[in-house]
Amino acid sequence: MRKYTIAIVLAAGQGKRMNSAVRKQYLLIQEKPILYYTLKAFEDSFVDEIVLVVGEGEIEYCKKNFIEKYNFSKVSDIIIGGKERYHSVYNALLWIEKNQRSDSYVFIHDGARPFVTNDILQRTYDTVDAKGTGIVGVRVKDTIKVVDMDGVVQGTPDRNTLWSIQTPQAFTYDKIKDAYDKLISHEKNGTLNKTITDDAMVMENYSDVLVNIVEGSYENIKITTPDDMILAEKILNEQ
Ligand code: C5P
Repeated sequence: MRKYTIAIVLAAGQGKRMNSAVRKQYLLIQEKPILYYTLKAFEDSFVDEIVLVVGEGEIEYCKKNFIEKYNFSKVSDIIIGGKERYHSVYNALLWIEKNQRSDSYVFIHDGARPFVTNDILQRTYDTVDAKGTGIVGVRVKDTIKVVDMDGVVQGTPDRNTLWSIQTPQAFTYDKIKDAYDKLISHEKNGTLNKTITDDAMVMENYSDVLVNIVEGSYENIKITTPDDMILAEKILNEQ
């Protein structure tokens, strides 16, 4: 039997690297906001429920301009995020517990990553179902260097071991919640000494659960800078 699956869609970031007055998730590609495509991908998939995380003061805007306008029936709630991405995720994890959905798989996804496909979602589901964790990524094509603060190359990791990580990142609820609880208590104690940039990092650092890779796609881009908007138009045209 299929396990109940909840997507946390994160749209509470500032998108500062976009240099735009409009938050990047609301920028338009072919007349629809980026966040529309992201929500639509989950709405049309096997995922049972979506929790949307937005910035302070944006709940009403999102209700009107996304949920009502496009009839996204799977979005069960819109909640407010936090200062860092991991705060936004944690708010959604607490929401899931409060609403008694803890016996679920959780797919954590960047709202600014609109081209996730059903195939990717299915592969992620199969991996989390078999192994408890599954994060989407692609093999890197470039050579990657480790460079110090003075711009001097320190080394070259073996490219065969390197993956560029995307979202969704999926976990059984209990495993990801435990790891996030530990992260948050480290933050409270003043012993958080890392920059947390994805969910797998939380698992790697605050649990002994192994994180498994799921093959993603080079089109599953995160829209971050103005260049990405041009690429996004192109990807959409080809779809
Ligand atoms: O900043 P970054 O590009 O890593 O953000 C990835 C996703 O996380 C974006 O969709 C952004 O809206 C979301 N985010 C969030 N809350 C934050 C920071 C980022 O929901 N405080």
